[in-house]
Amino acid sequence: MQIIKTVEELRPIIQEWRSQGLSVGLVPTMGYLHAGHKSLIVKAVSENDRVVVSDFVNPTQFGANEDLSTYPRDLERDAAVCQEAGASLVFHPEPEEMYAPDSCTFVDMDSLTKGLCGKSRPTHFRGVCTVVCKLFHIVTPDRAYFGQKDAQQLAVIRRMVRDLNFGISIVGCPIVREADGLAMSSRNAYLGEEERKAALILHSSLALGEKMLEEGERDARKVREAILGRLNTEPLARVDYVELVDAESLEPVEKAEKPILAAIAVYIGQTRLIDNFTFAGGQQG
Ligand code: AMP
Repeated sequence: MQIIKTVEELRPIIQEWRSQGLSVGLVPTMGYLHAGHKSLIVKAVSENDRVVVSDFVNPTQFGANEDLSTYPRDLERDAAVCQEAGASLVFHPEPEEMYAPDSCTFVDMDSLTKGLCGKSRPTHFRGVCTVVCKLFHIVTPDRAYFGQKDAQQLAVIRRMVRDLNFGISIVGCPIVREADGLAMSSRNAYLGEEERKAALILHSSLALGEKMLEEGERDARKVREAILGRLNTEPLARVDYVELVDAESLEPVEKAEKPILAAIAVYIGQTRLIDNFTFAGGQQG
């Protein structure tokens, strides 16, 4: 498995694969890989002849007061995870390789990016769309793999690919959790011992909401309030948002009758964590 740092080195490798008629899968990541990332790579390996994992902490998706400088990094360990999962290549560019000093072109979206995480992170999805668009142009994959963990990101990328005719299949992959239910995240590394315990409140609050829906509750406000109420029982938790939205448009819903996404963002101490579940909807059970 190769580690490639420049676009110039990467392009001929991809061209060579293409000339052999091989299919290419892409797994975009910010590194510090865990079993959630690995599940995406394993899935990509099972569906493509060659798999590129990008490992790049993308500065344009961080806001001014966010954790860009402290974001955890470990290329050596990431390379071992990629190799074990069967990836062909890790693309690990420096920020200067991806963004010229006078770079001024961005990809942005009018809807889907204003609510949920977009409310407190107003420039985040512009950064995500721009870097993913660049990676799509550089790697020209047949398929690209994204986790349902970042449900809004997945919906945004699907829309971007449709709107801009990328002709790339976007494959959504289920959330991988720790044994106790906490959704795996590179940011879990920030949590102290007490915070790690407190972080379980995300999953248990969502589980409560999901149970209400499964038992027939369709009033989104009631489900939202139950999730919020449970989150507020944890002294170390500070809620950013709890939303029940249409799974595709990401617009808030009153009734959970069509497929919905229940998504939350919660600060545990200084660490902002997200989690979600989807519910298929349907008539009251
Ligand atoms: P990140 O490195 O956080 O940008 O994540 C890279 C990709 O891995 C994104 O598509 C994420 O949605 C996905 N991912 C992160 N955590 C998980 C998880 N716990 N389960 C499944 N996919 C995940």
